[in-house]
Amino acid sequence: MNSDLQDYSHKRLNILTGEWVLVSPHRAKRPWQGQNETTSKEVRPSYDESCYLCAGNKRINGEQNPDYKDVFIFTNDFAALQNDSKHFVVKEGLIEARGEQGICKVICFSPDHSKSLAEMKVEDIQKVVLAWQKEYMDLGTIEGINYVQIFENKGAIMGCSNPHPHGQIWSQSSLPNEVEKKDKQQRNYYNKNKSSLLGDYLSQESVLQERIIFENDAFVVLVPFWAIWPFEAMIVPKKWQPNIAVMDAKDSMLFSEAISVLTKAYDRLFNVSFPYSSGIHQSPTNGKENKHWHWHMSFYPPLLRSATVKKFMVGYEMFGSPQRDITVEVASKMIRENIIK
Ligand SMILES: [Zn+2]
Repeated sequence: MNSDLQDYSHKRLNILTGEWVLVSPHRAKRPWQGQNETTSKEVRPSYDESCYLCAGNKRINGEQNPDYKDVFIFTNDFAALQNDSKHFVVKEGLIEARGEQGICKVICFSPDHSKSLAEMKVEDIQKVVLAWQKEYMDLGTIEGINYVQIFENKGAIMGCSNPHPHGQIWSQSSLPNEVEKKDKQQRNYYNKNKSSLLGDYLSQESVLQERIIFENDAFVVLVPFWAIWPFEAMIVPKKWQPNIAVMDAKDSMLFSEAISVLTKAYDRLFNVSFPYSSGIHQSPTNGKENKHWHWHMSFYPPLLRSATVKKFMVGYEMFGSPQRDITVEVASKMIRENIIK
């Protein structure tokens, strides 16, 4: 590896978005004088009568959850997008807006209020993955739905209001910003090289082995070269797949294993239920072939150097570019050392 990357300030290119991240490895050595809260080791019950996601409980709109046994999905009672929202365009000089339609769902990963994905069995995670596949296909076939965003916000630090293990599925008529960038970058690369941008990147990483955390027959877990968050990671299928719908049963099991290995290692890293936002970026459901897409799942955890010290995206990051101190190579080594063998 080029040692300059560990010693001197530099910027790294995110090939998926075309954006740069500033890296300042020399700063990782400075003493910390900021926030240092104590952790509260919270032990949750497996059922909480005040939780609106637990089985049998009433939600805020008065609807009662069924007595579900594994995965439970419902349309968000307070959805950010509505499918019957008006179609309209405002274009008056430099003032521009468009109506946006969509369907937002909530997916409970388990009826057990106390569990996170890290604590669930691989076969139970697979039930979640199968549900994601079904939702991607079902929502994607609805007229006017051109993109399905699957994501999870885990932990109060991430603004997650309910600790019950759950994620969200937002589907909408247009591509959100992050997806639009990745769509463009992957398409440009495919048109030029007739191969997958991420596939070619994986080939390079598998030779270097510096940033790979874990791999099985179908997936690689790695900290991407351009990661912004201190312990950011990405799960990428080895095969060139545009979206999660094309995974067979073996793939979905191996994907679940990758999720399990990574989230378990995260929990051990700072001895805390590791907070993060995770999400799957995949091909739009616009009825086109989308050959340039290679789907992947990203994890963006906010923790910096302990269970209580978090990274803030402020100042230069708001006005300039994202910036990190600890290098991706150091972070990947730290996560790798916490994998349960
Ligand atoms: Zn609950």
